[in-house]
Amino acid sequence: MNEKKEPKFWKGNSVDGFSYGIVTGFIVGVFNIAFIHIWHLGIFTWIVIWLFVGTIPAFKDTKTEEKKRQQEVKDRKTVVSIYEEEAQKKIKKSSHALVCPHCGSANVQLWNDQANIKKIKQTSSLNVNPLHPLTVFKHNKKIVKKHSKTKIAAGLLTGGTSLLITGTHDNKSHEYHCQNCGHVWTHR
Ligand SMILES: [Zn+2]
Repeated sequence: MNEKKEPKFWKGNSVDGFSYGIVTGFIVGVFNIAFIHIWHLGIFTWIVIWLFVGTIPAFKDTKTEEKKRQQEVKDRKTVVSIYEEEAQKKIKKSSHALVCPHCGSANVQLWNDQANIKKIKQTSSLNVNPLHPLTVFKHNKKIVKKHSKTKIAAGLLTGGTSLLITGTHDNKSHEYHCQNCGHVWTHR
């Protein structure tokens, strides 16, 4: 059978013709049995439709192939759009902290990155640098950070081992300032 290589007889869509023929032939056959009573009309209808659809090139399955291609393109597009949506969601999530909880404005400024600073130790020492003779005192600012209570508690529970990893400085919170309504809040 060289039917697949070069269809000489089944130039149309023989598979569809077969199934169409079965359906129509069955319906016609039922009607025939019920009303018309012509000998094997249903089977003849089936065979006629099968041959008709199967041998005429106009019924060749080009439309469905085209549809398949279009569907594939659509699928690719939807996949791309899904990825884009996910990316946008991620962007929204990541920028969520920079939205004012009071007015919802995105015009937010990081007001104080050192919200957890307890105090700033200022030590002054006599200037001994000859390059700056006018500067009498040298000011040294030392930032003392607040110790996170939870981290200290965790440190006590774990016998101090967690402190080696986490430390006691709570660097989670940041202070934000809304330039739209002036609301100030802390967020990590
Ligand atoms: Zn605001």
